[in-house]
Amino acid sequence: MVKSVTVVGGGTAGWMSASYLKAAFGDRVSVTLVESPGVPTIGVGEATFSTVRHFFDYLGLAETDWMPSCSATYKLAIRFENWRAPGHHFYHPFERLRTVNGFPLTDWWLHDAPTGRFDKDSFLIATLCDANKSPRDLDGLLFESSQEHKGPRKRTTLSDQVTQFPYAYHFDAALLASFLAEYAVGRGVRRIRDDVLGVELDERGWIASLATREHGRLSSDLYIDCTGFRSILLNEALAEPFESYQDTLPNDRAVTLRVPVPPSTDRLQPYTTATAMESGWIWTIPLRDRIGTGYVYASDYCEPEDAERTLRLFVGPTCDGLESSHIGMRVGRSRNSWVKNCVAIGLASGFVEPLESTGIFFIQHGIEQLVKHFPADGWRLDTIASYNRAVAHCMDGVREFLVLHYRGAARADNAYWRDAKTRRIPDPLAERIEQWKAKPPDAQTVYPYYHGFEAYSYVAMLLGLGGIPLRAPAALALMDSTAAHREFGLVMETAGRLLRDLPTQYEYFRRH
Ligand code: FAD
Repeated sequence: MVKSVTVVGGGTAGWMSASYLKAAFGDRVSVTLVESPGVPTIGVGEATFSTVRHFFDYLGLAETDWMPSCSATYKLAIRFENWRAPGHHFYHPFERLRTVNGFPLTDWWLHDAPTGRFDKDSFLIATLCDANKSPRDLDGLLFESSQEHKGPRKRTTLSDQVTQFPYAYHFDAALLASFLAEYAVGRGVRRIRDDVLGVELDERGWIASLATREHGRLSSDLYIDCTGFRSILLNEALAEPFESYQDTLPNDRAVTLRVPVPPSTDRLQPYTTATAMESGWIWTIPLRDRIGTGYVYASDYCEPEDAERTLRLFVGPTCDGLESSHIGMRVGRSRNSWVKNCVAIGLASGFVEPLESTGIFFIQHGIEQLVKHFPADGWRLDTIASYNRAVAHCMDGVREFLVLHYRGAARADNAYWRDAKTRRIPDPLAERIEQWKAKPPDAQTVYPYYHGFEAYSYVAMLLGLGGIPLRAPAALALMDSTAAHREFGLVMETAGRLLRDLPTQYEYFRRH
């Protein structure tokens, strides 16, 4: 029976894993976390996916418990700027589509667009974002109160996602890791600050122990590799191959800045912005006390100095004198994330560029799946294979979705953006795009395994990006559109009421 776990790495992945294991198993499994005092964490990873609330729910943490300590804000959507053409923007919201007479509202929008903005006509969140609104009123009530669970908090996981919760969070990754460290240590996780210098394998090639600089040998039944891109247990010691996605997703570097700016109505936007640039895109993440920003680019098209110059010009004089950080990104996934008695979670398992903020989502998915597949009754190959399938499907699905962002963007004004239209794409995606030209994406035609994104996300991206034409189902021409017009009217009316009733995010946090 597996009764002891050693987590190596004290970044977001390490502390999320240690906390979650404690929340799941309490004292029935002992957890040790060893983190290097000298090797820094990646230092980014500040925008999340709406399912992250299940993680906090599972740990029994309310927003008021953790958000203030982590400089956290709400994130209702991602705002894509300049992906179609300079000056154009649209939102990819955390909001499912309404349905009218069996067709999603966006199909009706394609048939008979009330205005030029599919996002504002079809979703409430786009209007809230344009006005920098908080998703909660000053009494703390969620704007879509039907989606909030009443009564004692439930411990939910990703597979319990019945409704689409309308927001995620932005937070300071280092502050969150410290917060979770306190949470985990308070519940019995043993914390060791030391370097793992070597990994000793037994005669079967399983991990027998870890050699540390100051604490001698550490051994346990199961090891979790959270050592970031180094992956010193899984990829290095166990030699599990890493399969690169670089042929389909060429961005491999980022330069980042932390820009202290006081909060204000305009600054505390309830969304992440992804602005398309010459050789990639820039993220803007509004935290309470600063902005996190970075330029993700492809080194085949741009030198690091040029990338830094572009980022500084983009941010403006507020970043004068601030130190930047240059990061090389290993894009792809380990062939298997669980090998023998070692499971890699976080960057050690795999990574795709942060365009849809999926790094922390992968961590959450990995640790939830580990708990669901936990080898409490010993090592079973079929259990390990089932885990590896779930993790691989999740990352491969997100890879397809991200490739679509580049292939689907109407922008084609330089070699970087033109090459995105001719570069190899995963085979099934090429086939799916042809299907979507005939009929907009639906549950039957998007990537078929769980990867966090549902058909409505594909529809929103294709309508916003504008490079792959969608057309309304021909049947709509033969149908009465009264109900659809009523629904568009309802969206507009509700959005108008929310604009009047909701405070801005800045007002909300000033009050709370
Ligand atoms: P790291 O943060 O690298 O931590 C590694 C840990 O291992 C450290 O504690 C280190 O000390 C320890 N370690 C290493 N070697 C040893 C050793 N020999 N002995 C002991 N300890 C050791 N994700 C999102 O969800 N949203 C985003 O907006 C986002 N933006 C990103 C932007 C960029 C440019 C990049 C590269 C990533 C981004 N991510 C994002 C991903 C996110 O940053 C990571 O998923 C997350 O931070 C987890 O990192 P980690 O804990 O796996 O690795």
